[in-house]
Amino acid sequence: MTAPGTIARHRVAPSELDCTLPGIQHIGVRIEAADGEIEHLPVSILNREDGPSLLITAGIHGDEFEGPAALLDLVRRLEALPIRGRLILVPTANPAALAASARRSPVDGRDLNRSFRAGASSISEAIADFLVAHLLPAAEAVLDLHAAGRALIMPSVMLDPRPTDRQGFRRSLGMARAFGADAVLVIEQEETGAMLDGAVMASGKAFVCAEIGSAAVLTPKSAALAEAGVARVLDHLGLTAGQSDRAMSPRALLAIGEDLTVRTTASGFLRPLVEIGAKVRAGDALARLIDLAGAAPDAFIRAARTGVVYNIAGGGPVEAGAFVATIAEELPPLPNDDAIWAASFERHLPPYQE
Ligand SMILES: [Zn+2]
Repeated sequence: MTAPGTIARHRVAPSELDCTLPGIQHIGVRIEAADGEIEHLPVSILNREDGPSLLITAGIHGDEFEGPAALLDLVRRLEALPIRGRLILVPTANPAALAASARRSPVDGRDLNRSFRAGASSISEAIADFLVAHLLPAAEAVLDLHAAGRALIMPSVMLDPRPTDRQGFRRSLGMARAFGADAVLVIEQEETGAMLDGAVMASGKAFVCAEIGSAAVLTPKSAALAEAGVARVLDHLGLTAGQSDRAMSPRALLAIGEDLTVRTTASGFLRPLVEIGAKVRAGDALARLIDLAGAAPDAFIRAARTGVVYNIAGGGPVEAGAFVATIAEELPPLPNDDAIWAASFERHLPPYQE
């Protein structure tokens, strides 16, 4: 018997895993990299009646705590929740990085979310490979929970502007809106190919990434937003019915094209000058870079385009080329209508490849 509120995890090898077994499985999957490193990855799987299927991952970066907070609780409440369909939860996808409160795994020094489709030679690659080979095939949609690490970010749900088909984009957009964060952001990222995003989209499934929480600090508010967002996505997809509250309508942000991300040109002490959500014009100062030795005059880091400050560095000592801010374009307020949201974004996006 397991004590109330506790989880007994059975250890299995990936080859022994069956994501279709009826009922609830709490397991620790033995992930073994080609270099011999081993980690046990906690996975919980619920199968109950026919219904939709969803994979939720959290803690891919070990200094982002809102996702693990939401899923660790959900795992403990799984038995009592009226869920229909299949729900797969990975509350701490990068256990060694979480234990170190670090973005990267201290075992191989790699960023798990830049280790997808790269083989399985080190532990980060092996975890990525397991998620794609063994869990992704069992779900129609994926929700990946992140936070801003050391930076500050507008609570938002991101999706990719390069959908392979119209239906896939609209399904992802529906999930993103349903989450109910401050903003839905369609963003072109540089390294999608090695990210979970790219691996899921290559499979043609719906994918969104929630960015909830800032500066590696878990607060009651940020934890509650992640928890409520997950509940709303479960309702939206039909795994639950009426288990969540109604969300406010998010802002619609777009970040594609040139000049999205502003970086430092020199090292120094970075002092941010604008808040998250601020509207800026091209040329406005976003931050001041102070030479710690006092030998050079202060440099101002300026916005390259007009828009909204979507995320900004936490400030303090930085190297040359360090991230300062991302500026997104804001679409006019949109009514609570999936088709209008989709059409409004699609006007700005490359054509579908269907
Ligand atoms: Zn992250």
